Amino acid sequence: MMRHKTRHPLLWLTALVMLFGLLPGLSLAEQAEAPAYPGFVLMEQSQFTLVNAAATLYEHEKTGALVLLLENEDTNRTFDISFRTPALNDTGVPHVFEHATLGGSKKYPSKSLFFNLSHQTYNTYMNAMTTDIMTTYPIASLSEDQLLRYADYYLDSVFNPMLMEDASIFSEEAWRYSLASEDAPLELAGTVYTEMKGAYTINTAARFNFFKTLFPGSVSGNSFGGDPQHIPEMTFEDLTNYHDAYYHPSNSLSILYGKLTQKAEFMQLMDSYFSAFEKKEFTFTDENYVPITEHTEVTHEFAVEAGSDTKNGAVVYLGYVLEGVTKEDEHVMDLLTTLINEPSSYFQQEMKKRLPAASAGCCWTPARSRRRTSTGSNCIPICWAPWIRKSVTMPPCPPA
Ligand SMILES: [Zn+2]
Repeated sequence: MMRHKTRHPLLWLTALVMLFGLLPGLSLAEQAEAPAYPGFVLMEQSQFTLVNAAATLYEHEKTGALVLLLENEDTNRTFDISFRTPALNDTGVPHVFEHATLGGSKKYPSKSLFFNLSHQTYNTYMNAMTTDIMTTYPIASLSEDQLLRYADYYLDSVFNPMLMEDASIFSEEAWRYSLASEDAPLELAGTVYTEMKGAYTINTAARFNFFKTLFPGSVSGNSFGGDPQHIPEMTFEDLTNYHDAYYHPSNSLSILYGKLTQKAEFMQLMDSYFSAFEKKEFTFTDENYVPITEHTEVTHEFAVEAGSDTKNGAVVYLGYVLEGVTKEDEHVMDLLTTLINEPSSYFQQEMKKRLPAASAGCCWTPARSRRRTSTGSNCIPICWAPWIRKSVTMPPCPPA
């Protein structure tokens, strides 16, 4: 869920690093020894040719927090910190926390600071986003001095958010009752509640219903952004407990990217925040997941405004759970889905003939949350169990 603005390529770099268990081919033997920083142990170093960067991975001694330096000549420098944040239900706690985190911190107790910084300082990108497995806080600037200050603001925000003591941030960002006037009906409000009401189209609902059907009982089926029907079930305590559970250095990966001359200052800054914590073991399991063993078909209803034309307005998902898929298979599926989605492909051409007003797509996704395990804080191992899905959206068909 984007907080605002547009996507930045580095977000995906971050996501990739997180998802692929760090960088391919990292090896200490490949380049000169990286500098040592107090409080950190050098783990791995190599070249990350995709962005022409020297990659160096450090682990924080006390907590096991991971820090990845990606150094190249890019002056659009970036700092990012990410946490693994599973969606344990449909209330959207990870998403609400993403919003609430940047609503002021112990050192920066201002609810409007994020937007002031965003519009009035040298940043080239400032955001926070939630996915099905993580929440990430990236910020970029052409000024390294500024980036160091932003990093301080972001670190203080994620580790010491005002939210922990100020329930009004919960009411503002999650949900609350609102009464426009004495006689007006009682209504629900809240930034995330309103955002998700807008975002929860029939497509979104269908996607999560599909996940729930394909992976019964799994966290993969939970709405990490929040299902508007379930957001009001969230309590302030749910949110603060979630912070205590997952916003911990041992569950984090920080990335510093670009042309860097103040690495020591950044490392010192991170050490100062991480050191306030004791090391914690993180294990991610999905114990309620019961794999389907036979063909399953489910129909869900979707509420629409009175008077809407619902004829042929439906979303159909067809999916397969694929076990034992190798890295090689993943590359093949990447290519295959790209080819299938080309407008000139046989699939798309046939769809156009049979359902001219429909749009269709095909993609595959690794079931990350479901199979992810952790053996501690110093690695992010991921077992891949991808599945493939085909989706067909069917707006009204022309008369036969
Ligand atoms: Zn949002």
